[in-house]
Amino acid sequence: MTDNPDLIILGSGSTAFAAALRATSYGKRVLMFEKSVLGGTCINWGCVPSKTMIHAAQFMHEARLGSAIGLGIESCGVDYERLCAHREQVVLKLRKERYLDVLQNASGLELIKGAARFLDRHTVEANGQRYHADRFLIAVGGYPRIPTIAGIDQCDYLTSRSALLMKHLPESMVIIGGGVIAVELGQMFQRLGCRVTILEHGPRLLPAIDHELAEALLDVLVTEGITFVPNVSFCSANKVGNLTVVTADSGGRRNEYACDRLLLAVGTAPATDGVGLENAGVELDHKGFVTTDLQMRTSTSGIWAAGDVTGRMMIATVGAREGIVAVDDMFNPGCGCAMDYLTAPMAIFTDPEVGIVGHTEESARQSGFDTISNSMPVSAIPKAHVTGHTKGVVKMVADRVTGRLLGVHPAAHRGAELINEATLALHQRSTVSDLAATMHVYPSIGEGLKLCAQGFDRDISRLSCCAE
Ligand SMILES: Cc1cc2nc3c(=O)[nH]c(=O)nc-3n(C[C@H](O)[C@H](O)[C@H](O)COP(=O)(O)OP(=O)(O)OC[C@H]3O[C@@H](n4cnc5c(N)ncnc54)[C@H](O)[C@@H]3O)c2cc1C
Repeated sequence: MTDNPDLIILGSGSTAFAAALRATSYGKRVLMFEKSVLGGTCINWGCVPSKTMIHAAQFMHEARLGSAIGLGIESCGVDYERLCAHREQVVLKLRKERYLDVLQNASGLELIKGAARFLDRHTVEANGQRYHADRFLIAVGGYPRIPTIAGIDQCDYLTSRSALLMKHLPESMVIIGGGVIAVELGQMFQRLGCRVTILEHGPRLLPAIDHELAEALLDVLVTEGITFVPNVSFCSANKVGNLTVVTADSGGRRNEYACDRLLLAVGTAPATDGVGLENAGVELDHKGFVTTDLQMRTSTSGIWAAGDVTGRMMIATVGAREGIVAVDDMFNPGCGCAMDYLTAPMAIFTDPEVGIVGHTEESARQSGFDTISNSMPVSAIPKAHVTGHTKGVVKMVADRVTGRLLGVHPAAHRGAELINEATLALHQRSTVSDLAATMHVYPSIGEGLKLCAQGFDRDISRLSCCAE
């Protein structure tokens, strides 16, 4: 097979695997290259380890809530080493079941360990050998971006990868960056007992999401003890004894932030160095990500790209779908397949969890829609009072004339679960009235979608439970 594959894939992450399995379902022979650990970011240092640790921190928080309502859980400590061993077990189990076993059982799929590099548009080289094919998929992913700050190289900083592999829980942490990784890991470390400070260059937390949701989340993070400093200009970072000290300007003053560990969370850079894309004529955008069209074709015929390396929505599900669309385009030309990023859901696994699908009010208006929106506090959902998680907001954006749903944005306890129903509704081009008329389980947090939809044309505070 190594002599004559139908498709060569660079990378073995979630994007690569989804694409490879799709190709084998067409009866094609796939050769996959991996230069590091099988499975890539999601399973090894992304979704799986982070969500395992976040879930543990959630347990801790719930235990404290329990003691406040009369349950005898007075103190709860953290055995961090044991927690790390548990995280590692989850990673090992899922890597074996979802990647290694899948690889071994997939007929027509072969993995070669080694870094692959394009020599020309039909040839890659790895381990000193050349491999030829007519079709390639670039799925090499990305890695944590390191900001340019004086002295940063002398500091023993963490990235999202090393933060999840740390063996000891630090007493204090400064996080540079106020995006998804910062809030997910920041809340997790704070809940486990580490004092967290988030320094953000811009004026607000999570600049890419709806401001009402970002504010609702910030309110919770601050209540839990996280310090958030916006509008920060970074001057330097230094090692002083065992501490790292970040010097930064904010609000017209120069401040020093000392911490046990510094975590850099300023985004993802594409892992294109050394891939030889210039030899294959593959074009990059101004940030170095591979440019593609909606069929994931690159500028070079016969070469597609998908996943984090394309820099659009850097989440595992979207990368997998991009990989599938690319393979459909390769082996089923004329299928009409194309990426639809507007119905791609995403979640931020804080508490409250943030779910996002479709347009914000602003992006809908920019796309030419005449919009109407409704937002509702999570405290309007009866189940929120049952669980004691009343913080957050549910927001919907619709077309003013037709009532068609354009975007759904919950920030609620377990809010990520709500987004799957919302995604189906958007996919089916449902209206606000469709959602309002759909029976939902009582009491459930999912009822928040129905209540928010009902709130477009009536005052839901005047409705009794389950009333329509
Ligand atoms: C902390 C964290 C939490 C996250 N949580 C979530 C979440 O909850 N849900 C979600 O959907 N997404 C989450 N993500 C994002 C998700 O992990 C990524 O979007 C996804 O893993 C990207 O997959 P990929 O296959 O495109 O790239 P990767 O998984 O990075 O795979 C690329 C692979 O290519 C290999 N490679 C690179 N260059 C070469 C080469 N020249 N030759 C051979 N191999 C090469 C790399 O070693 C790597 O294994 C998270 C990310 C992080 C960092």
